[in-house]
Amino acid sequence: MEQYDAVIIGAGLAGLTCGLELAEKGQKVLLLEAEPVVGGRTSSYIDNGMKVESGFHRYIGFYSEMPKMLRKAGIQLNEIFTWEEKVEIRVRKKEKLITLGAAPLFGPKKTIMGILGNNELLPLRDKLSLVSFFLSGLKDLITNPKKLDACNIRDYARKHKVSEDAFHNVIIPFSTGLYFLPPERYSAYVFFGLLAPAIKRFYKMRIGAFLGGMTDVMCQPMAEAIEKKAVLSKQIIKSVSCTWTGKIT
Ligand SMILES: Cc1cc2nc3c(=O)[nH]c(=O)nc-3n(C[C@H](O)[C@H](O)[C@H](O)COP(=O)(O)OP(=O)(O)OC[C@H]3O[C@@H](n4cnc5c(N)ncnc54)[C@H](O)[C@@H]3O)c2cc1C
Repeated sequence: MEQYDAVIIGAGLAGLTCGLELAEKGQKVLLLEAEPVVGGRTSSYIDNGMKVESGFHRYIGFYSEMPKMLRKAGIQLNEIFTWEEKVEIRVRKKEKLITLGAAPLFGPKKTIMGILGNNELLPLRDKLSLVSFFLSGLKDLITNPKKLDACNIRDYARKHKVSEDAFHNVIIPFSTGLYFLPPERYSAYVFFGLLAPAIKRFYKMRIGAFLGGMTDVMCQPMAEAIEKKAVLSKQIIKSVSCTWTGKIT
């Protein structure tokens, strides 16, 4: 029976990353995937003739581990992402959109316009309450995380006098829109924790949208890099190989 140093169950991003790390260290890896394509919740596939893109849709510029891992697989960010400098929020029963800059350094004009504009849907009073909400949240995240974790995001917004409109139009899209749970169900710590990496790496902030199917442009090339590394390692360390079940299309 074939022997392996490690058996990895699942070729989602976690399994692929693990496989990449181990293959690079010359380990003999068996990577098992139940589905016919690699990528898990970061995969793309055809279902009954319909092209499906699963979970992961947007890369956030301040991610630090993912670019390292992609580089290891020989993938350049600019090859797989197109960059977006703004976020548009559609407001119920309104024709206009709230447009906020999402790339302070790459798109400063849009960032400034987002702060100064949007006055019809986001009046000055609402903007000021949001500034207070965000600054206090980030401060509490550093100085008093336990207290922040004891408060849900709706109560925290109320405490900072964020109006119902501002809460619904700005905070909900960036919280419930990501966690798929009502705002009473997650703490302010969870919300601000997501933003925390942006403090140190705000200059990297921008949003990447995949230039093709996620399996095609990212996950399959990662799987191929594992195989390649394993094959390359094989020439140096005799017992290295990499295998996964399932069809790589
Ligand atoms: C709707 C949605 C939107 C998202 N949007 C974003 C986004 O915009 N930006 C972002 O950064 N993240 C986003 N995410 C999160 C991101 O998609 C996930 O965090 C990431 O893909 C999880 O990777 P994983 O490897 O941990 O798990 P998974 O991708 O779930 O991988 C697990 C793998 O294991 C396989 N598996 C399970 N059991 C077995 C078994 N017994 N044998 C063999 N294989 C098995 C599965 O088939 C799967 O391929 C989103 C998630 C969702 C659901």
